[in-house]
Amino acid sequence: MELSEDELIGAVRKVLSGAGADVVVGIGDDAAVVASGSGDTVLAADMSVEGVHFDRSLAPARDVGAKTLTVNVSDLAAMGASPRHALVSLALGDGVDAAWVIELFGGMREVADEHAMSIVGGDLSRGDGVVISIAVTGEVVPGRAVTRSGARVGDAVVVTGSLGAAAGGLALSRSPAAAEHAGTGWAKELERAHLRPVARVGEGQTIAAAGATAMIDVSDGLGIDLSRLCVASGVGARVELGTLPVAEALVDSEDALGIDARELALRGGEDYELVATLPEAAIDAAGAELRERFGTRLSRIGVVIEEKLVAVDADGTERPLDVGGWDHFAG
Ligand SMILES: [Mg+2]
Repeated sequence: MELSEDELIGAVRKVLSGAGADVVVGIGDDAAVVASGSGDTVLAADMSVEGVHFDRSLAPARDVGAKTLTVNVSDLAAMGASPRHALVSLALGDGVDAAWVIELFGGMREVADEHAMSIVGGDLSRGDGVVISIAVTGEVVPGRAVTRSGARVGDAVVVTGSLGAAAGGLALSRSPAAAEHAGTGWAKELERAHLRPVARVGEGQTIAAAGATAMIDVSDGLGIDLSRLCVASGVGARVELGTLPVAEALVDSEDALGIDARELALRGGEDYELVATLPEAAIDAAGAELRERFGTRLSRIGVVIEEKLVAVDADGTERPLDVGGWDHFAG
């Protein structure tokens, strides 16, 4: 590292300058001071570890920064909350230069600006590799945060956007034939989905207002995240596999990558779409609002039942839903 810690913090402060109006004391003091809104405060934290969540040789620093903040914002979105503030703590190995760190914060700044949130502080330390730990706050109308635990038998299960593209992008980055496909339409889309996922903030608020009984973001895979929602709610779900919104670019990549698009849509992680349960009567209006306001599709993929996770194939065959998904604790 060619800069001292104080010099690096100074450079980072420049990248993050101009905090929002609700920031009373920003970066540089012992702690930040922010004005509380009138809603409930929602808190979340998530970290990205080099070698586990990202590879510095494959992902540009700007993308790593943007994605790490997006992952945190997605957890706020899954509560129906509006993002407010973030604290960023960073451990850096010897091989990391100041330019990489500045780019990292540049990517975070892009995402923070997109959601009108402010990065108000954090910490910097030496470490063995890069570890990025972020804590975020958001705000929601008092009593209106949507948890995982309110799903009721008979509710419809819905999902935003499309599934599997991020896992396809990861598969592409690891494919020996990656260079051969670079530049094709589907390859660009999969790469973007993997490196630059988008948090469904407006969509989460819309689905919450439409009467969502439970909601979760798809971080580890549709199957496993839906199973978490069901366990928290004490219910089961029947998922119609033919209705899963499989990402088009993923379907286009099937032959080239040798993957099963529907399988990746069900099991792949890191799409950061939202899965929610809603009364059947609320779906059409919620779907129309998502399409009009955000250009995002809302797909009905199943129904909440009393117990067990069941997958229904296109031909009507039922079987237990295998919830395999990404597990960062697995080897
Ligand atoms: Mg989550």
